[in-house]
Amino acid sequence: MGSLSAIGLQANASNNFSEKLASTRTVLRTALQDAAAKSVKMTQASSLGAEDVVVTHLLESIKAELGLTLFPADVFVLNTGKLHAETLALLASSQAASSLAWRVFEPVQAEAIQFVKTNGELAMRESLELRKACCHIRKVEPLGRALAGYAAWITGMRAEQSSARADVHAVDASDSQCTKYNPLVDWTWGDVLHYIVTHNVPYNALHDKFYPSIGCEPCTRAVSLGEDFRAGRWWWENKDGASTKECGLHVKA
Ligand code: SF4
Repeated sequence: MGSLSAIGLQANASNNFSEKLASTRTVLRTALQDAAAKSVKMTQASSLGAEDVVVTHLLESIKAELGLTLFPADVFVLNTGKLHAETLALLASSQAASSLAWRVFEPVQAEAIQFVKTNGELAMRESLELRKACCHIRKVEPLGRALAGYAAWITGMRAEQSSARADVHAVDASDSQCTKYNPLVDWTWGDVLHYIVTHNVPYNALHDKFYPSIGCEPCTRAVSLGEDFRAGRWWWENKDGASTKECGLHVKA
């Protein structure tokens, strides 16, 4: 992993990257100090994608700066049972190296097994309903468990990722139970990769195989030059039709 890798070639910081980074750090620092003062917990949702390894790295860096006895944030991963080997390898090495606590959530096994038995291994490609049902079992229900008891969660969502994410804000308090922080909201893909390369952050090997967005193995493919960031997610679904290219984790009720 270095400047000659595919990811290194795409690392291209915006002219105002320093300001963006300072703003991101301020959002996170303020939220973490506030959570510590109130004795409430925050958690980062990580898919082990490029944005998420940046957010984890920032949290680790701010943790070292703040020197709090009880750091209010941890990291969680939804292990859907369908992740790529590259993602699972990064999960293991990240857990081993991190100064943060990690939690891993899996689907209710009986439900996942029954779904496959009834609908088949690739049911998610047969209809939007079956795809959403699979996402509900493997992602949405475990997400509810991951967020239970937490006052806030942190994501790596960026406005640039797709039109469905264009109205993402740095702080989203629309859910009074759990504030959502999107500290990379105005970062470009080049900014994200620039941070990874300049801070030598371990990243998902799939990015060097042209997977900009990391998801489940059956539902994610590499993208071609010029394609939308999330074109490789559920690629068989009509971009402008019923599908929003989201799995339900970031869809407001
Ligand atoms: S992304 Fe695909 S495999 Fe993963 S939970 Fe959703 S439908 Fe199932």
